[in-house]
Amino acid sequence: MKTFSTEKELQAISAKLLKEGKTIGFVPTMGALHSGHISLIEAANEACDFSVCSIFVNPTQFDKQVDLDKYPITIEADKKLLEAANCDFLLLPSVAEVYPNGKDNYTAPDIGKIVGILEGKHRIGHFEGVMQVVERLLRMTLATDLFMGLKDYQQYLVCSKMTKVVGLDHVKVHGMPIVREKSGLAKSSRNVRLSKDGKELAVNISKRLKKTRVLNYKNNIKRLEKKAEEFFERFPEIELEYFEVVDKNTLMKPTGKDKKENLIALCAAWIDGVRLIDNMVLS
Ligand code: AMP
Repeated sequence: MKTFSTEKELQAISAKLLKEGKTIGFVPTMGALHSGHISLIEAANEACDFSVCSIFVNPTQFDKQVDLDKYPITIEADKKLLEAANCDFLLLPSVAEVYPNGKDNYTAPDIGKIVGILEGKHRIGHFEGVMQVVERLLRMTLATDLFMGLKDYQQYLVCSKMTKVVGLDHVKVHGMPIVREKSGLAKSSRNVRLSKDGKELAVNISKRLKKTRVLNYKNNIKRLEKKAEEFFERFPEIELEYFEVVDKNTLMKPTGKDKKENLIALCAAWIDGVRLIDNMVLS
């Protein structure tokens, strides 16, 4: 695996590969890699001629400085995992390299209401930061394909829309399945910050999503959400931020005609001061 810290070095290679008609699969990450991230590298290797991973803790997508400060950094272990997964290139840029004109010099494209609901409602400015960094990294890497985890389902939809409106519609965006621990807990870099008890409690998030999938209230969404809220009230250590059932394509409340296959339940909750998110398609 070749490691780069500048756009220029990486582009010297990727431009050459593109000229030869090769495809480049890109996996943007913030590091502290786990098997969820690695599944994306494997998907990129399978679908594309070359794989590029970036590790960059993007300051513009954090709404809370403390969350940014506490973000785990494990570069040496990350490199080992990427080598073992046969990742071809690693981009490890500085903030100045990603944002040479300053990180505040950005106007997010208008992609509609999706940026202001669910995660966007609770993390003001988050998706603007995500769009900013993903667009920039796609331009830095010259990737033909983008691989994103469905764990961050709304992020995947936001980035799919963003690529279409900023002139990156040639980039094929792939949404890949959520990798979970045996317990059902979705793998996340933030899980290392959970206490032993916190980790056990966190299992209730995927448990409730599964239960919501199994329950059949003839699409009575309000009831599904209310039952979930009541369930979480049983655990005072879990601070539920939202549990919502929405249309899986628009993330809006369904109009009534939507079939159950079109629904998704999304959840965000705090445990041990750690914000966890998860989701499940209800089919
Ligand atoms: P992050 O480093 O948290 O920004 O995540 C980088 C990419 O890995 C994003 O596309 C995430 O959706 C994806 N990812 C994180 N956790 C998982 C998981 N458990 N399963 C699948 N993809 C994941």
